[in-house]
Amino acid sequence: MLTVSEITKIYDEKWVALERVSFSAGKGEFVKLVGPSGSGKTTLLKLIYMEERPTRGEIRVADFSTEEITPRQLPLLRRRLGVVFQDFRLLCDRDVFANVNLALGICGIKGRRATKRVTEVLGVVGLSAKSHENPSSLSGGEKQKLAIARALANNPYLLLADEPTGSLDHGNATAIIDLLHHISQMGTTVIVSSHKDDLLETWPGRLLRLENGKLI
Ligand code: ADP
Ligand code: MG
Repeated sequence: MLTVSEITKIYDEKWVALERVSFSAGKGEFVKLVGPSGSGKTTLLKLIYMEERPTRGEIRVADFSTEEITPRQLPLLRRRLGVVFQDFRLLCDRDVFANVNLALGICGIKGRRATKRVTEVLGVVGLSAKSHENPSSLSGGEKQKLAIARALANNPYLLLADEPTGSLDHGNATAIIDLLHHISQMGTTVIVSSHKDDLLETWPGRLLRLENGKLI
């Protein structure tokens, strides 16, 4: 599923963001990535998404490897990954349903099949009743649920959530982690990062702790 082998990332030939990081995650695993701000969490997720290239080491996601992937294969990898950010990144010129539908369209899924899947994932995140609302009318927690629905639409191998609760209060944050954990139980590998390690304590799963770019 996911193998990170001896990854080092050095920015501008001098800033060591990650140093010899290794771990692996299997199908349906719930991985908690914690560490203070600047410890390398986002860098690690960007490397897995292959938005950044490792300076040394190799990452394998399903059949894709950082050593072998070509620019033309990148979109194929990305279609199999779901990504969620702290700031939601929703489109407010269309409704909840259309936000998820668009994500499927990009992956080539359209028409009735798309409609069925959108309905399904909105159900998973508990937003069925808000299907025709504009995202701007949703609460922070609901916005993040929508972002998760969108990331989940194409049945990704791996869902990466980078500080998804960063702009939410404690109650909403807990609901979002609960949802991500539920998604991992349905078979998608989930990696969720947070600079607050106590937030993730309650949920079972593999704990990765970064400090100054090193796993400890
Ligand atoms: P976190 O997500 O845990 O806050 P980051 O992965 O964003 O940490 O950053 C890790 C380190 O890498 C920090 O010291 C940061 O300044 C540095 N860094 C991140 N991105 C870049 C970049 N594009 N260029 C140079 N340094 C960067
Ligand atoms: Mg970060």
